[in-house]
Amino acid sequence: MIKKSLCGLNTDEIFDLIGPLNFTTSHAVSISNSIYKKGISDISQIAKIPYRLKEELFNIAIMGTYLPLASEVSSDKSVKYLFRSEDGKEFETVYIPDNKRNTVCVSTQSGCRMGCSFCFTGKYGFRGNLTAGEIVNQILAIPPASKVTHVVFMGMGEPMDNLENVLKACSIITAEWGLAISSRNITVSTVGIMPGVEQFLQRSDCNLTLSLFSPFSEERREIIPVENQFPVQDIIEMMKNFPLKKKRRLSLAYVMVKNLNDTDSHLEGLKSILKGSKIRVNLLSYHPGNNDKNCSSPAERMQFFKHNLIISGISASIRKSRGADISAACGLLAAGLKQ
Ligand code: SF4
Repeated sequence: MIKKSLCGLNTDEIFDLIGPLNFTTSHAVSISNSIYKKGISDISQIAKIPYRLKEELFNIAIMGTYLPLASEVSSDKSVKYLFRSEDGKEFETVYIPDNKRNTVCVSTQSGCRMGCSFCFTGKYGFRGNLTAGEIVNQILAIPPASKVTHVVFMGMGEPMDNLENVLKACSIITAEWGLAISSRNITVSTVGIMPGVEQFLQRSDCNLTLSLFSPFSEERREIIPVENQFPVQDIIEMMKNFPLKKKRRLSLAYVMVKNLNDTDSHLEGLKSILKGSKIRVNLLSYHPGNNDKNCSSPAERMQFFKHNLIISGISASIRKSRGADISAACGLLAAGLKQ
């Protein structure tokens, strides 16, 4: 008999497991509280359940939580962790402390099959989807777990290519019986798989950010192949027209590469596609890899973009880059930690 992994189950699913053994929903809530709130990793330590339930659980379930294999600390105090799942998939997680805001950047897949040309994860290839439990475990299993205030789905993988597990992980992270982190503090990033984005907007309250790279379709498809299937203009139109709940944020991530996508015509293109919308723009530095002749736009150029967007009525900010020295910055994750 294959034992169920408790991490990744919601309270209803835990009850489905223990109800037939004559246990109650409040026992199911105690189990989920122990896993997600207290970070308990041993069935015998689960609080507020009878000894007989622990014995039954040993026969039918495992906790499904596991520790990272290795870690590396950046000069800016970001920490990159390497995980290996039970079935051998490797993936990375980054913890980014910043005063009172402590963010975990989680992976949703081992590798990625989107093949974006500037991304190291894309070059690593696709090794498999992560389950909801494997996504949530990346928050529970890192040493600073209790300090986490924000979660971003910007690690390895395209979240919309593993949508059901991502939606389930979001629901566990936000649930009162789960990690109880506000949906306003959770952001999922995508390169734009239209049906997935539509489902995500409808079925979740979490924030969404779209990686743009270029406002021009012909140029974007050279970098982000999924543009051929789902033109970004259509996705932005859908985001513009989606009725947003209070404080939910939709944004564009714009990685700026010198002389490539930071020209005046790119700025005009950005303004044009975002006209009349509440979508925010996050401008990011580019992190070149080895033998890469491209480099990031200078700080003054990024300021110029930000200023011009703002005076055109578009909310914009420059996002601080973290963890570049340990290959933990945007687009650099490729399960490359030494164990
Ligand atoms: S940028 Fe995102 S979607 Fe594209 S290859 Fe990298 S991880 Fe995948």
